[in-house]
Amino acid sequence: MLIVMDHGATQGEVDRVVDTITELGYTARPMPGAQRTAVGLVGNDGRVDSSRLAALPGVKEVIHVTQPYKQVSLEWKDEPTVVQLGGGLAVGGNDVVVMAGPCSVESEEQILETAQIVRAAGASVLRGGAYKPRSSPYSFQGLGLEGLKFLAKARDETGLLIVTEALDPEGVDIVAEYADIIQIGARNMQNFSLLKRAGRTGKPVLLKRGIAATITELLLSAEYLLAEGNGNVILCERGIRSFDTLTRNVFDVTAIPLVHSLSHLPIVADPSHGTGRRDKVTPMARAAVAAGADGIIVEVHPQPDRALSDGDQSLYPDQFTELMGQVRTIAEAIGRRVTDALPLPISA
Ligand code: PEP
Ligand code: MN
Repeated sequence: MLIVMDHGATQGEVDRVVDTITELGYTARPMPGAQRTAVGLVGNDGRVDSSRLAALPGVKEVIHVTQPYKQVSLEWKDEPTVVQLGGGLAVGGNDVVVMAGPCSVESEEQILETAQIVRAAGASVLRGGAYKPRSSPYSFQGLGLEGLKFLAKARDETGLLIVTEALDPEGVDIVAEYADIIQIGARNMQNFSLLKRAGRTGKPVLLKRGIAATITELLLSAEYLLAEGNGNVILCERGIRSFDTLTRNVFDVTAIPLVHSLSHLPIVADPSHGTGRRDKVTPMARAAVAAGADGIIVEVHPQPDRALSDGDQSLYPDQFTELMGQVRTIAEAIGRRVTDALPLPISA
């Protein structure tokens, strides 16, 4: 439930709404905005007597949020959320943010080399898994803490921010220590204890759509993060499982405008996992940006044929440079622009 205040409502009137919600036994979340000031009532179990709130001075209206996800919905917040990543970089504004890097961190040399490559091409965030969710227990599982340290070194050398995956609730804190964005992978989209733990860090979270998840389920999973008080959520369309074996997944471009019509949260696209095929990544990156994606996350490897994971869908450096040029053109055609890489760190 959302209590929308009059334009001229005083701070005292807002405070009174907050106090009344607290007295009723619920959590109040004041939301000052450019268009309106509202106070969200969190935890509505259907028994809230809204007439008591509607009658308070300064209250314009009480809105009952109809969607099952509440704080994630556009009904709750009608302005796009801009997730601040640090260093002035943000996802969800007018700029399209490009995240790129290998599927897995494989060695110090590999991640440092890839970081330089993607930075030179114009990416502003470095991706790379240190903890890898693999279908087989015998496949490369990632370098773990060592991988996080290599990522931190790459950030120090290039100024790129880091997105990397937390695999389980116990692993969230260590990932949060090193990462600028905590990735929650497709296989973990409904790992609710992981979501709660990531929500409590307050750090930006990249939440990937599950391999067979509906958009409603994706948004409900995001609600877990917001319910913990973490509004820094970036959604990610990464393709869904279907019956056709010619591509790894079906890249659901429609999810992008659909999410924008249901939620204020930004959504980025992952055309690498979305297609599973190197030659299909660039066309789908173009399509994603044209459809309104707030960013893309792309797998790039200096030697894809030697990659320890997802080599088939990893771009060669030259292909990534070409992708960047095309994506810039598309962004400009729809009145957006690709964010510039952050300045090099002073020490570099
Ligand atoms: C990845 O980003 O390498 C990854 C494992 O992605 P997903 O969770 O979307 O499969
Ligand atoms: Mn991968």
